[in-house]
Order: sequence, then structure tokens, then C-alpha cells
Amino acid sequence: MTETTHNPRECAQSFLEEALDKHDIEQEIKHLLKTPHRTVEVELPLRRDNGQLTVYVGFRVQHDDSRGPFKGGLRYHPELDAAHSQGLASLMTWKTSLANIPMGGAKGGINCNPHELSAGELERLTKQFVTRIAALIGPVQDIPAPDVGTGGREMAWIYDAYTAIYGHHPDMVTGKPLGIGGSKGRVEATGYGLSLITNWACRNQEIDIDGATIAIQGFGNVGSYVAQFLSDKGAKVVAVSDVGGGVYNKNGLDIRSLVQKTHVDGQQVQSVTESQVSAEAISNDELLTADVDVLIPAALGAAINASNVKDVRARIVIEAANLPVTCDADTALSQRGVFVVPDILANSGGVIVSYLEWVQNRQGLQWSQEDVLSYLTDQLDAAWSATVQRMSEENTSCRRAAYLIATQRVIETKMLRGFQF
Ligand code: NAD
Repeated sequence: MTETTHNPRECAQSFLEEALDKHDIEQEIKHLLKTPHRTVEVELPLRRDNGQLTVYVGFRVQHDDSRGPFKGGLRYHPELDAAHSQGLASLMTWKTSLANIPMGGAKGGINCNPHELSAGELERLTKQFVTRIAALIGPVQDIPAPDVGTGGREMAWIYDAYTAIYGHHPDMVTGKPLGIGGSKGRVEATGYGLSLITNWACRNQEIDIDGATIAIQGFGNVGSYVAQFLSDKGAKVVAVSDVGGGVYNKNGLDIRSLVQKTHVDGQQVQSVTESQVSAEAISNDELLTADVDVLIPAALGAAINASNVKDVRARIVIEAANLPVTCDADTALSQRGVFVVPDILANSGGVIVSYLEWVQNRQGLQWSQEDVLSYLTDQLDAAWSATVQRMSEENTSCRRAAYLIATQRVIETKMLRGFQF
């Protein structure tokens, strides 16, 4: 599974176009909503530790800021390009709108493999990227966050580089470590939100979460937290995997032990053998087609695509990753009556708590974890309820309903603000 098997911009566009066609608006407004506000591409020469010069490319796509400052992650991945960033930036506009937080959509990053760079090289590269885009980002302009290949460490470097130019603005970046203005609850926010959504989706499909069987592809931040929260709710997480392959136990895996072996001891999922966690090895392809109630793709995009969709047996698919189901696979699942909860709803816990981090930074306060997760639950509940209501009013899929709500809110704001300068 790689992200090159589909073009995320085309998939994001096709979901969007379907929703825009339902709104009675001028063609030019549709065009505005489909195209990014700004795409920035900067060259980033890096003197490697061995003296060699390597030139990387940094991207920042700002899709829409009608409802508030641009918001979205920075991804460090060798396949990142402008098209990927544009597709993912558009997705952020609809995600923040559906979550009803006062922010827009952005995405970007650097086309590097962070695993091949030393910490010193990554710090120099990150800080150089910030200096090249500094004029375009900031607490009321564009607020970056972690994404694939980046985390709290990189956000701290971003904060430091920005501070060197403009002074202290902890609200210019989210996903920071707790000690420099990060939010309690941010690390587990996306997985926590996904566990709420999975619970509600099961209820909607009349599946009891207690005993429901779950397969999760990807056992990083998102996959491992959603696995823990779901097994706490009584669900049977029967299969999980990472890039090296997966493990399966039809009676449910011991998730706490798996987290200990992988995230604390540093092993890959599949090397956790029967002696440590009672499980048999399976491939990532087998995980995706396992006979389960719920499948949660939580790795990269295009996990479920034209070539494997016919073999998917889950009754519910929860999109934890961004665009893990390609557009043609989405049509096939929908025709078979599989209930798919789209990324812009399912994984929005992360951006909701990012927004709360920004709010706390602007207040100069730090909230308790309980307050953060309680706000997250209310916000997500509102988004879920609005989507389910729209599904029944329009007799449509969860994805279409979510896009209809998200686009409608952005259109309304755009019309209120006008187009005169
Ligand atoms: P991560 O880097 O912590 O974990 C990714 C996991 O996927 C790892 O276990 C990795 O081994 C696995 N993986 C990578 N390539 C794979 C492959 N080819 N096959 C199977 N597994 C593979 O990333 P994360 O933060 O957990 O994010 C996972 C996904 O969720 C990404 O698509 C990300 O954009 C999306 N997402 C994350 C957040 C967040 O808050 N972290 C929020 C919204 C969306």
C-alpha cells in the first residue's frame, strides 16, 4: 500500500464536486472552493552531516481561510508533492468546517525521508523551511501541526525558528510538547475521537460495541490509541498491523501488551510472537480483508482501492487515515451497503484538540485533560449528530452528508464576507 496508487487531489476533488453540485451557487464560487488560495514551493538546500549538499523541496498549500486562519499539518515524506499537499489541504478545509471550529484548511511539508536524516539535519531543515515561509504563517494566518513523519519535536523547532523572527507566539503552531504550550490530551485526541465515532457508528448499524470485532491497519499514534480505547469499551480488537505486517487473534488481542512491546520496547508488531502476545502473523493484505465488524485503516492513503475492495468483508469502515479509501473503492463499498465514516468526520479529534491548544495559548492557560476531552466529545458529538441527521434528510451516504454540511458552512461564510476589495 502506498500513497502513489491514487491521486489524493483527484479523490478529494471528486468527493467535493459531488457536494458542490448539490448547492445552488455560481460556477465561479465552485471554482474558488476547488482551488487552493495559495500554493508555496520553496527549495531547501541542506548541508548533510557528511558534508554532501542535498536540495529538498518544501510545500505549504493554503486552501481556504474563510472561517478562520489556515490550519493543517506538515508531513515529512519522500513522496510528498504539490498535488498531495493540495488534496490534503482541501480536506482540512472541510474537516475544520464540519467540526465547526473557526479555522480553515492547509497542508504541506518536505519531500524528505526523515528516517534517513540525523536529528541535527532535521532541525536545520525544519528551521530553514520556517524562515522561507515565515511571512505566510502565524497565529492568525496559518497554524501548522504534526502529520506523518513529524511530531512534537519538529513543532518545537518550528516555534523556535518563528520566535527568533517575531518573538514569542506559542499559538503559531500546535502539537507542541507540553512544556512549551502543548495541550493535555493532544497525543491521544485523534484515537480517542475515533473510538467515540466507532462506538456511534456501531450503534447506528445496530452492532453492539461490546464484543464487536475490529481490525486496525497502522499501529502508530492513531492506531495504537484507538485500539486501546476500543478494547477498554469491550470491543475485540482481533487484528493490528504496522509497516512490517500484522498479528491476529480471533478472541481479541492483548492491546496493552502489544503497546508495551511496540511503543515502549520498540519492536515491530509482527515480531511480537506468540510467546509474548497470543497471536498469529498475518499480512497487511490479509488484515484489510479480515472477517470483522469494523475495519479501521490508520496508516497512509489508498489502503482500500480498486484492486482489494471486492475482498473487504467489514460492515463498517472508519477512515482514521486521510483518504484511505480511493474514490472508486468508495463507490464499490457504498453499492454493497458498507457503512463508511469519512476521514473529515472520523479523524477530526486531532484538529479539534489542536484548536483547543491554540485557544489555551491565546488565553495563556493550560486546561486539564478532563476539560479538553470533554470539549472534544461535545464538538465531535455535534458533528456526528448533524451528519447523521443530514444522511437521513437527504437519504445519502455518511461521506456525502458530511461534505454537504462542511461545504455549506464555508459557502455561507464566503457569501457573508463578500468579494470586494
Ligand atoms: P504514525 O506515523 O504514528 O503511524 C503510522 C503507522 O502506519 C505506523 O504503525 C506504520 O508502521 C504504519 N504504516 C506505514 N506504512 C504502512 C504500510 N504500508 N502498511 C501498513 N502500515 C503502515 O502516524 P499517525 O499519527 O498514527 O497517523 C496515521 C494516519 O492518520 C496518517 O494518515 C495521518 O495523516 C492520519 N491522521 C493523523 C492524525 C494525528 O493526530 N496523528 C490526525 C488526523 C489524521
